[in-house]
Amino acid sequence: MSWQTLQTLMRPFWGDRDSVASYVGGEFIAGGGSPVEVRNAHDGSLLLSYADADASLVARADAAASAAGAQWWALTGQARGRVMYQVGALLREHADALAQIEAIGASKPIRDARVEVAKVAEMFEYYAGWADKLHGEVIPVPTTHLNYVTYEPLGTVLQITPWNAPIFTGGWQVAPAIAAGNAVILKPSELTPLTSLVIGVLVERAGAPKGLVNVIAGYGHTIGQAFIAEANIRKVVFVGSPATGRHIATAAAQRCIPAVLELGGKSANIVFEDADLEVALRGAQAAIFSGAGQSCVSGSRLLVQASIFDKFTRALAEAATQFSVGDPLSADTQIGPINNAKQFAHVKGMLAAAVQDGARLVGDAEPVPAGSGYYVKPTVLAGENHLACAQEEIFGPVVVAIPFETEADAIRIANDSRFGLAGAVWTRDVGRAHRVAKQVKAGTFWVNGYKTIHVSSPFGGYGESGYGRSSGLDALREYSEVKSVWVETAATPAASFGYGASLE
Ligand code: NAD
Repeated sequence: MSWQTLQTLMRPFWGDRDSVASYVGGEFIAGGGSPVEVRNAHDGSLLLSYADADASLVARADAAASAAGAQWWALTGQARGRVMYQVGALLREHADALAQIEAIGASKPIRDARVEVAKVAEMFEYYAGWADKLHGEVIPVPTTHLNYVTYEPLGTVLQITPWNAPIFTGGWQVAPAIAAGNAVILKPSELTPLTSLVIGVLVERAGAPKGLVNVIAGYGHTIGQAFIAEANIRKVVFVGSPATGRHIATAAAQRCIPAVLELGGKSANIVFEDADLEVALRGAQAAIFSGAGQSCVSGSRLLVQASIFDKFTRALAEAATQFSVGDPLSADTQIGPINNAKQFAHVKGMLAAAVQDGARLVGDAEPVPAGSGYYVKPTVLAGENHLACAQEEIFGPVVVAIPFETEADAIRIANDSRFGLAGAVWTRDVGRAHRVAKQVKAGTFWVNGYKTIHVSSPFGGYGESGYGRSSGLDALREYSEVKSVWVETAATPAASFGYGASLE
């Protein structure tokens, strides 16, 4: 797939532009920094080449966001909601083009890209409904005061997102931020800027002020870092790897700016011998192989009761050979390539180290086929929980299966991880399902299912998977400042410290 195809698909959003640029204050502004080159993961050919954003964009985006944020907050909640519904409608209108841009630009199978675009429309629609319902509370304080609490926007928020689900993570953060009255500076991965730029354009086209959502096309260590260090921002919301997250939170702390971190995972998918094993087998496949394992919630550690371990892992490895792996643009493709060369090298390195450390390849698949694309076949390893392959994020279609004997063992192994993003249990025993759900330390947990998430339900991590919450009402709270107002109602207020003085 070529740059020309992308340019044609992008035309309804950026006209005749011939290169990627940032979108600030309603204008596309080309960068002047060092080159960013993006390769097509299907065949390794050059897909995008553009210049990194200049540091001068910081002041420009600041001014645009601050002016737009003030105008936006001056509208009624109903008016903001109407604009947000319209963003949802525009996303649906352009869903086909957006799915193709994502499939090419992020090497995501077109069927997955279509689902993600629809989910983003749903995010704007869900938060549109909240825009006029973010009311405060009256607290029954034990004094003569009326005490009420209001929720106000923070101001301008910086959002930094990764390459694995660009439109999904962009919409996921932009929708609650603007519903709560904020302006946004969104810095997507330099590898996947296109669909985030479209979000910025569509928000404005739906009726929001120019500059409400500014999208910066460039590297994290240059322009991303410059925004954290210098921009007039009130919060940083970061979705990405634990190493970068730690760095970003430290930089934000230097400026006393709070952060939300949505980081990686090594989630335990626990299968008991009493489960409906056919359903659990399908669930285990979806948990790790969808998105070629490039999903933060992947069920990348498969804990299987020892009595069924061999049978279950063999069946999983056999099922893994049946997937259609290939060109993201083909309608039949279930599993696409690894997104980029660096990640491809990481997955191959982790696989080689796993085998060297004593993990065993289940089945006889050769994980990395010959060819020019960044492809890794769905792979099942049998190993132990202390191995690096079971402790570190591989972020590819590679599952590490680990046997356990008892329920207590399963819980202990599941929690023997520095991450805590997600997890699941497969069992027909209702009591066990709830016991395990209660004891596994993870922000999202499924019983007899995997990977279902929805914008209405909170999402976030324990431990090194991060802190703060996205989605649902929790995200609106993350994007709000809380104010407590005390109004004296007594005709003769009780004297208290400092109140006794007289004007006479
Ligand atoms: P990454 O940390 O390399 O990059 C993420 C973003 O940070 C990019 O936009 C990048 O340009 C920017 N960045 C990098 N260095 C920066 C710096 N010094 N200052 C400011 N910005 C900087 O992550 P990635 O490789 O793009 O994404 C994969 C990771 O994302 C995985 O670990 C995955 O688990 C995680 N992820 C988490 C969630 C979640 O919700 N928890 C969702 C999706 C992905």
